[in-house]
This record gives sequence, C-alpha cells and structure tokens, in this order.
Amino acid sequence: MTYKSKFGFGCMRLPVTDTNDPTTIDQDLFNEMVDIYMEKGFNYFDTSYAYHNGMSEVAIRKAVVERYPRESFLICDKMPTWALTSEEDNDKFVNEMLERLGINYFDVFFIHNINVPWLKLAKEAKSFEYIKKMKDNGIAKKIGFSFHDNSKLLKEVLEEYADILDVVQLELNYLDWEDPSIESRKCYELCAEYGLDVYVMEPLKGGVIVNLPDSIKNDFEEFNPDKSIASMAIRFCASLENVKVVLSGMSKMEDLIDNCDTYENFEVLNTEENEFLERMASKLRQNVAVPCSECGYCIKACPEMIPIPEYFNLYNTSKNQPQSNIYRLYYDKLGEEKVPADECTYCETCLDHCTQKIDIPDMLEKVCEHFEEGFSPYAGAP
Ligand code: SF4
Ligand code: SF4
Repeated sequence: MTYKSKFGFGCMRLPVTDTNDPTTIDQDLFNEMVDIYMEKGFNYFDTSYAYHNGMSEVAIRKAVVERYPRESFLICDKMPTWALTSEEDNDKFVNEMLERLGINYFDVFFIHNINVPWLKLAKEAKSFEYIKKMKDNGIAKKIGFSFHDNSKLLKEVLEEYADILDVVQLELNYLDWEDPSIESRKCYELCAEYGLDVYVMEPLKGGVIVNLPDSIKNDFEEFNPDKSIASMAIRFCASLENVKVVLSGMSKMEDLIDNCDTYENFEVLNTEENEFLERMASKLRQNVAVPCSECGYCIKACPEMIPIPEYFNLYNTSKNQPQSNIYRLYYDKLGEEKVPADECTYCETCLDHCTQKIDIPDMLEKVCEHFEEGFSPYAGAP
C-alpha cells in the first residue's frame, strides 16, 4: 500500500453544466478528468445509487467502464438504504446499479449511510446478510457500510456485523477529529479495534474546510504559502495508518490537479503541521455559523422539501461577508424558485438524518431571522 493508492475519485459532486440540475453532468470534462487521473496511476471511483439522481453511475460507465479495461479500475457503489422496503429490494437495486454502471461485479459495496432510522431499514431488509452473500458469490470483492454517526452507534453495529465486513467508510477530517457529535477519532479507533479498514469521505467536510473566512485563510497562507488548504486537510486523513482510501469530490479540473500533486509528492503530516491544524480546527469551530457538509440527506427526509443545505450555505457565506446585501436577494430567490425556509413546520423528521447533528429547525430559524427580521418558522408549530 502506497500513499498514492489512497487517492479515491468521489463521484458525488461531479462537474455539471447547470448548477440547478444535478443530472446535467459535464461528461466531456469528467472524461478529461478521468483520463488525467488514470494516466497518473490512480484508479478508485466511488459512487452511489443516489448521486446526481442516478446519473453519477451512468457517467462513470461512459467515462471509465466503456473506455478502460475492467481490471484497470476499482468501483465502489452503495445501496440506497432509505429506499429499502423489503428483502427483494436488495436484488432490485443491485441489479439496477450493475446495469447503470455496465459491470458485473463491484470492487467495494456499501450499505449507504447507516444511522438510527436507516439501520432499522437495513435490518428489516436483511441487507447485511445480503451483502455477505454478494461477497460469497463474487458480486462484491469487499463489503461494508458508510457512516456519519457517533461512536456509540458504530460500536453497536460493529458488535453485530464486524466479522462479516472488510471496510467502514467514515466521515473524517481534522475539524471533526475531536468533534463531540461526529467523533471521527473515536470512530477511526473503533474500526481499528475491530480489524476493519477505514475509507474516508468528506476530508474537506463538504467544502467547509476550504471555504474559510479570510482570517483563517491568512493563517494558512502564513503557515505555508506553498501548500493549498485542501492539501493539508487531505494529508491529515491519508497520513493515518488504517486509512486506505481518501475520497475527494472534484467538480473542477484545478481540484483534480491539486489533489494529484498532493499524492504524487505525498508527505506524512508532521507534528508541527498537526498542531497547526488542531489550532485551526478550534478557530474554525468558532467561525462557521452552520457546519453543514451539504450532503443532502435532510432534503430526502423533509416532508416540505425545503432546500436546507442551500439556505445554510447562503447563511454561512453571508455571515462571512456582512458588508454584502446580495445574499438577501439570493435568499428571496431561493424561496421563490424552491421552497421558502419559513415553510418549516418544526416536525423534526430531519434531525435523525443530519450527518452533522445540526439542530436543523433551530438553525433555519436563525437563517430566517438573519435574512428576514421578525420571522419565525416556529410560528403556528405545536
Ligand atoms: S423540521 Fe422543518 S426542515 Fe426538518 S423535516 Fe420538518 S419541516 Fe423539514
Ligand atoms: S443539514 Fe445536515 S443532513 Fe442536511 S445537508 Fe447539511 S449536513 Fe447534510
């Protein structure tokens, strides 16, 4: 295992031609990115049934499967746990995924995003037993689950299933390492204790770690003007011994080039750099208004279909640029084009689904207050 082999191409945020439509993947640009990635000796692609509303798998088929020999690349896909209603659904989704990708086996297969409500669905559909059979039959070479929750739930799942699994895909980054709700460090150590490899998702926490307030950007610039902020965050993850893959979602060519450079010239994070990132993590915690990673799971859960991450993104950006009024206009536009934030009924359905353990209705109230003084989404709620 070399550090270079840890660089995984995350296909959840591919380049699109219309930012309002996730299905409009820019196939030409993606093909070009894939060619550079493969030419430089990288080979791991991570997708799911849900990414880009199913089009991520199709784009990988076109860019990778139809253009490269099967043995030259690895593909990881994930069962849509939230959509499981019966044991038969396992087969139905897996066959659909194989067809979309144009392959007849997965190198890695995960049950997607185990949390409290979806663990229940996976158990009812016997999905852990199903993926074990996939491995026995050669349909999946390695199996596991992806996970954003805390160490208590992880221990519970590992107690029951670790002996049939190979990998856990964890949210892990320097900001979440000691975060009391995400507990990256504790979760990483638990996987090691149970003998499972760790694959990392969200090394940049959905962009929270790179879209920094100017004061923190300056700290990075002063610490090392030659290294990008993203490269420090990626090296934090890839330097960990039990981490075998670190996914990077790349929607721009320059992100790919920067990441290739990080892995081609990989340096394990030293003590001074680790201490610097620890300091930046505590500074960042005080500066980020909402630590939303824009994973989108809350939207699937919200009966009102409120575009929650878009509101949180606007709020964070507006807080970082208090002198600009433009975000108020964006806020109004978002409400007109999609669903207004004030349609939150405080039903709390989203709470168990939030990968970052954000009190979403409470935070939406703050967003509304920020942009629209005097409004409360709690009005009329029980
Ligand atoms: S609490 Fe608000 S945001 Fe959350 S699911 Fe209910 S309506 Fe949607
Ligand atoms: S609010 Fe939570 S679930 Fe929704 S996009 Fe942000 S991090 Fe993900």
